[in-house]
Amino acid sequence: MNDNQLLRYSRHILLPKIGYEGQEKLTKSHALIVGAGGLGAPVALYLAASGVGKLTICDFDRVDLTNLQRQIIHNTQSVGMNKAVSAQLVIDAINPEVVVQTIQQKSTETEFTALAKTADVVIDCSDNFVTRYTLNRVCLALKKPLVSGAAVRFEGQITVFDFRHESSPCYHCLFPDAGEDQEMRCADNGVFSALVGMIGTTQAAEALKLLMNIGESLRGRLLLLDALSMEWRAIKLARDPKCAVCG
Ligand SMILES: [Zn+2]
Repeated sequence: MNDNQLLRYSRHILLPKIGYEGQEKLTKSHALIVGAGGLGAPVALYLAASGVGKLTICDFDRVDLTNLQRQIIHNTQSVGMNKAVSAQLVIDAINPEVVVQTIQQKSTETEFTALAKTADVVIDCSDNFVTRYTLNRVCLALKKPLVSGAAVRFEGQITVFDFRHESSPCYHCLFPDAGEDQEMRCADNGVFSALVGMIGTTQAAEALKLLMNIGESLRGRLLLLDALSMEWRAIKLARDPKCAVCG
């Protein structure tokens, strides 16, 4: 790290749990962020500000005026722009040292596999079950840690599926039967702006910890947030031996 980097990351380096070594791990890391919406916005902002060396950001969608209430990486000028590109512009301004790769079209399972192969962590910031199930299969096959988050209305949830550990449950253990009809879209149900920030920031914290290999991750624990009562609940997650995907 040069003098500028030592200054930029000094408040991380000051932390005994992180130090020079942890910060250097971040600068050599690659994170795959799927979705640059409400959850992906804080994830991308914090990972970029923290100096994660490379970010691959996938989003085929364009910034819409209705997104700006919560998707804080985008601004009024970026309406109509591809979300991954809009995120890249902001990241370049915050931390030009971060290499950003944008994937601006829908990715197939094969394409996600190729992207995840070189990533150290995958962060699911998508808004649909098809993508969540796909990323679950991809990360399970590659034994990559997957940070999973979701938020709608006033309710959010977050967990880590760390497939480097044999005992890790998978997304399908948790939601074996979720289908299109159970989809809870923000567009239909509404979503509280700061909620996506809380879940997304928690995902960012988990991703950074995983990249530096510090602390205890949310592996085997599902956190549920009710933002109206501001109560977090933790539920123990066990692997389902009969799971159709990981069993
Ligand atoms: Zn499973």
